[in-house]
Amino acid sequence: MTEAHPTPSPYQELLKRLRNAFPSPVSDPVHDGYVVFSLLRALDQVDSLKSDAPIVGSPREPDYAFALAQRLAESPRTVESVIPELVNCLQGMLIWGHPRSQVNVVSFPSIPSIIGVVLPSMYNPNLCSDETGRGFSEAEVRVASIVSDLVGYHPGEAGGVFTFGGTGTLLYGAKIGLEKAVPDCMRSGIREAAPVAILASDKSHYAVLNVAGWLGIGHDQVVTIPTRANNAIDLDAFESILRATLSRGHRVAAIVATMGTTDAFGVDDLGAMHAVRERCVEEFQLRYRPHLHADAVIGWAWTVFNDYDYQRNPLGFRGRSLRAIAAVQKHVRHLSLADSIGIDFHKTGFAPYVSSMLLIRDRADFQRLVRDRESMPYLYHSGEYHPGMFTLETTRGAAGTMSSLANLLLLGKDGFRALLGHAVEMAELLRELVAARPELTVVNEENYGPVTLFRAYPEGVDTFSIRDQELHDPDRAAQVATHNDLNRRIYGLVHREALNGKGVAIGFTENYRQTASGVPLVAMKSYVLSPFADQDQMKTVIDHVLAARSAVLSGQA
Ligand SMILES: *Cc1c(COP(=O)(O)O)cnc(C)c1O
Repeated sequence: MTEAHPTPSPYQELLKRLRNAFPSPVSDPVHDGYVVFSLLRALDQVDSLKSDAPIVGSPREPDYAFALAQRLAESPRTVESVIPELVNCLQGMLIWGHPRSQVNVVSFPSIPSIIGVVLPSMYNPNLCSDETGRGFSEAEVRVASIVSDLVGYHPGEAGGVFTFGGTGTLLYGAKIGLEKAVPDCMRSGIREAAPVAILASDKSHYAVLNVAGWLGIGHDQVVTIPTRANNAIDLDAFESILRATLSRGHRVAAIVATMGTTDAFGVDDLGAMHAVRERCVEEFQLRYRPHLHADAVIGWAWTVFNDYDYQRNPLGFRGRSLRAIAAVQKHVRHLSLADSIGIDFHKTGFAPYVSSMLLIRDRADFQRLVRDRESMPYLYHSGEYHPGMFTLETTRGAAGTMSSLANLLLLGKDGFRALLGHAVEMAELLRELVAARPELTVVNEENYGPVTLFRAYPEGVDTFSIRDQELHDPDRAAQVATHNDLNRRIYGLVHREALNGKGVAIGFTENYRQTASGVPLVAMKSYVLSPFADQDQMKTVIDHVLAARSAVLSGQA
């Protein structure tokens, strides 16, 4: 027999307190208020760290000595005392969406996309199966359908899964391609005498190498194909290398078309690559079709312009911007020719990390990844959708799915067009300003995205011809290195000033392209994605770069 009113044990007392640290599982509007208020408390603390500078708080280096000394405490703490510890992690963090921030290809998440992270965090769906994912599983299919239609796939045949980043989308693409080239290697492993290759341009993302390594294909089997001045794959080289690879009897697990390179926004001619693939399948009488994967993690968003009326130009973009948009869209509109496509909402889709989806033209291809081949996993009937049977991940959270859905609903085609068009418009403006200055030159002249790579030079350098001389003259190693150093120092100065509230934080690339002399060409980078960027900031970039250039050249910095 238990006592009627036993004194609560210490653990029960503790439990009672700890329950307050959780949202209420049953209706309790008062406690919901506490949940929201705790969030508000955190935001309020972040707010007090904001200034004119594009950074939270002040610049600081991570303190790893402090981090290494951390241990689990004996006693619990209050919600209120944990919040400042979490907020403190934002100290020194760049604010990507700040009007004075043009650092890299990182999204500034919209409000609905943030709610898209909060809701699954509270209710914890698992996209492994619709038994555990419910409406969130439906949301994943919904996003896949919307984006399939956008890229030109047939939503009734296509399929899509969210995964752990752009790298994950490439892994899926290459794995499906590997199964086509080496049938059933999921079960029996790669036991071919001849190597299996992956082909990609020399400006493709290093994730291609990672994927080749992790799939057991090997870094050495990644065949890199030269790019042209526009940072797109050299089609003649692609064709001859693909032929040579097949002639040697090697299998091709994947051909990767990069639709928007990471630094320069080079876009491969996917249509032409597809035609080359088709020709080779025919001529070599291949028993499989080498898988064509479009790494469109950056460029996918430009598909919203596929049916834009360029003649009427209802959104009123400047002629220059319109041309720039059309130049990218010209290749992106062929995305439906790819067998699979990698899409990052966290790059050009205004969603938080990690929001990456692998889209596949024919969802029956997922069948190649199923562990138990007898089962048919890819049905959309209620209670029968189990992507966990073919995904690499077992548990998959729904944050990426939900924030992507949120932005698709929020923005529609015109919303994306306005945000991306604005970014391109700002980049074009910067290019005009650079062109007007004899001290500066744009290096990714032939690319037309939101990113501008540019270099500054000392007095007396002809900035009309210097870029091509530096790229192609094998005897200029010393000169390129000297100019690289100048640009590195200008960038350092501009960046430091920006973090202290003066000017704009820009980015830098250590290897825009390899030059004929063997020294990589570095460049300053302006990556505009913030909806809050405006003309004034583009002028500020130039002013600060020129001032820093003078300071460095005169030895004052
Ligand atoms: C960023 C990027 C990747 C890798 O994507 P993550 O989301 O960072 O894993 C792959 N390809 C290209 C072209 C990229 O720019």
